[in-house]
Amino acid sequence: LLIGVPAETIPGERRLSVMPDVVKKYQGLGAQVVIQSGSGQSAHLRDEMFADVQFASSGAEVCSTADVVLCVQPPSPELIAAMKPGSVLIGMLQPWSGAERAQQLMDKQITSFAMELLPRISRAQSMDVLSSQGAVAGYECALIAADHSPKFFPMLTYAAGTIRPAKVLVIGAGVAGLQAIATARRIGAMIEAYDVRPETREQIESLGAKFVDTGVTAAGTGGYARELTDEEKAKQAERLAKAVAQCDALITTAAIPGKRAPRIITADMVARMKPGAVIVDMAAESGGNVEGSVAGEKVWVGDVLVIGPTHIASRMPVHASEMYAKNLYNFLSPFIKDGALALDWEDEVMAGCCLTHAGELRHAGVKQVLG
Ligand code: NAD
Repeated sequence: LLIGVPAETIPGERRLSVMPDVVKKYQGLGAQVVIQSGSGQSAHLRDEMFADVQFASSGAEVCSTADVVLCVQPPSPELIAAMKPGSVLIGMLQPWSGAERAQQLMDKQITSFAMELLPRISRAQSMDVLSSQGAVAGYECALIAADHSPKFFPMLTYAAGTIRPAKVLVIGAGVAGLQAIATARRIGAMIEAYDVRPETREQIESLGAKFVDTGVTAAGTGGYARELTDEEKAKQAERLAKAVAQCDALITTAAIPGKRAPRIITADMVARMKPGAVIVDMAAESGGNVEGSVAGEKVWVGDVLVIGPTHIASRMPVHASEMYAKNLYNFLSPFIKDGALALDWEDEVMAGCCLTHAGELRHAGVKQVLG
């Protein structure tokens, strides 16, 4: 079995899908590994750190020889075109927005696994890339907020008085939001947080933050939130408005799988924020939780700085890659037997995140969204 690792092709992506110790583990299972030369550079991984691997001079060379291709972001159409028919592709394939890519994968008879589709069950936690990369992103968003705030986050007593701690409001308390809360707390800010899933109250409070109760709850299926009705949105906005107006930094992380990110913060709410307040909209790339946020840009709205960071996990490529590479290994390794690939379609985790196989789109939810 030859496992291939091409360099990531999306500009700004700095992570890699393997690390040297994970490569050793694949080799221990009898697999061989081919890596595009120089592909680890952006994650500070030099070629000589990978022992006993083959190096290829291009991504196309990797893809044309590998039986299994590992990636972080979806490979370019050129790389997919180079893949062997019947080979396997594993990575964050952005299944919800990739109709053309899915078609190309079907046409090439590629068995693809989109790690975003992994069932969120206990057994799959060690493979959960949304959790590992969400934790990195949440941590980074808290740092971005602190870095751009014109105020200290912690309380500070100095010779001439005391600085009060900054108030940080976190909206969306999934993996990323909880990590943003924990990180901002460690820096010393006072935190309020809100999520539509009622079980998050306890999680928020266990991190020493205050839960903002809007009276709107919207637990959906699979542990995810559902979309709010217009009436619920209005009630949520009214109750959140006070907390938004009082905070020094606002971090938004709300998401609904397969849907545009919910718009929670209106332009009017931004206009009522304190001068010098900072907003970090983690959902900017998927439509934005905040009206006026722009993916990849920092925008001044009056005296409020609205940041729409992109490639957030790539800000910390070493640990993000380490976590991601282990997630992929934990997913793939049970299906490597005596150096050969033995996929098990009875396995609910494997079957659950299969995007395409044998020329068909396999995931019912994605099929519905892509039409
Ligand atoms: P996510 O990234 O899909 O969404 C982020 C958060 O936004 C969620 O907490 C969601 O409730 C919230 N949200 C959505 N709409 C909102 C709105 N209008 N207002 C406020 N908040 C809103 O979430 P995630 O971090 O991927 O976690 C989703 C679920 O998966 C959670 O229940 C989590 O506990 C569960 N989970 C399970 C496992 C596992 O068992 N393997 C691993 C990780 C997460």
